Amino acid sequence: MRRPPVFVSLANYPMPTNSTEEAPKVHPDLESVMFTEREIKERVKSLGKELKAAFGDGEFTIISIINGAVLFTADLMREIDNPVRLDCIRITSYGEKTQSIGTPHVIHSLTLDISGRHVLLIDDILDTGKTIALVDGIIRKLNPASLRVCVLLDKHGRREVPYEADFVGFRIPDRFVVGYGMDFAERYRNLPCIGVLKPELQKPPEWA
Ligand code: 5GP
Ligand code: MG
Repeated sequence: MRRPPVFVSLANYPMPTNSTEEAPKVHPDLESVMFTEREIKERVKSLGKELKAAFGDGEFTIISIINGAVLFTADLMREIDNPVRLDCIRITSYGEKTQSIGTPHVIHSLTLDISGRHVLLIDDILDTGKTIALVDGIIRKLNPASLRVCVLLDKHGRREVPYEADFVGFRIPDRFVVGYGMDFAERYRNLPCIGVLKPELQKPPEWA
């Protein structure tokens, strides 16, 4: 018996557009996009090469400052083929504000033994320098063989504590950014791009 013809609705399938480039969807809460998903990917890839040049083939221990550095750490780790160990340290200083509320403090500390190990500390943004300086002090007390620091973004003009990272993704001006792991009141971390949050939304929201 012959089967009836099957008609597939084309509406269910993504159609190719004339453009080879997909128009990026910009989140309505963003005033502007600072770095697109593609720009971030390219820079993370080249940072991986910089790390490889610095560490060679040796093992090192990554310490990621969470939550902000989670996405950056996950992507950067996959750009290197060295044997690596991963530990996280949880620091807070912001709450539901866009300016640091003073002294950062440790909420959850390290679990791996890093004595005699080469360490790469990873954070999303180096801003006043207080957070990285705090974690730098904690790590150095544990006698690592070496400590290098990698940040995705550097707001260089905002430093209150002198600190230079060994690897920097992008130097940025003093704007409050969200996306690619970075939040405002715990939102926007899942945006694939990095953008400037609209100023009128930079106040403690009712949903927080
Ligand atoms: P610092 O202690 O250097 O002043 O601040 C570093 C931390 O503040 C970063 O790890 C990051 O979590 C947070 N931070 C600094 N600037 C921004 C920003 O523009 N957006 C977001 N979401 N977090 C920021
Ligand atoms: Mg942070």
